[in-house]
Amino acid sequence: MDCCTLSNFSCCESSYIETPSQTCPICKHQGILVKNFTVKHIVLDEYLPQIGINDYFLCTNPECDVGHYQGENVFYKQQLKVPIWLKKDANPKYVCYCGKVTEEDIMDAVLKKGAKTLSEACKITGAMKDCKCEINNPTGKCCAAVVKEAFERATRIKEENRDCLN
Ligand SMILES: [Zn+2]
Repeated sequence: MDCCTLSNFSCCESSYIETPSQTCPICKHQGILVKNFTVKHIVLDEYLPQIGINDYFLCTNPECDVGHYQGENVFYKQQLKVPIWLKKDANPKYVCYCGKVTEEDIMDAVLKKGAKTLSEACKITGAMKDCKCEINNPTGKCCAAVVKEAFERATRIKEENRDCLN
């Protein structure tokens, strides 16, 4: 029986109850929910058979080596295809995973290439052009807030430097 065709009962909605957030098995920090298909896209191919069908959590503690986890499944940051930008030693530190734009690229655009607005910085670097953040970003979330933050930091540095130079 295909329950999705029944008009007064939607299994698709009721089956999608948000999983209560789990804490990181190593550092005990609260994680953020990351969809299963995001994890499938981020984890190195050799670990694909271990992923299963459940959604995961991402450890947002910069000091912790854990990336995604769900129950007994733990993927450390070294087991992922890309560095997690919010970890302290992420290298390179991507702000936009789709365009492979790093924090440094944004700094460059503002400090050396004269970008004065966020959209100018995006145009120069190629950030936020072809957004597939749901599968490319380890958080599964749009990079816009992170790109904006990097731009604002770069702008502040530029202003401070100008004060020094004058
Ligand atoms: Zn952790």
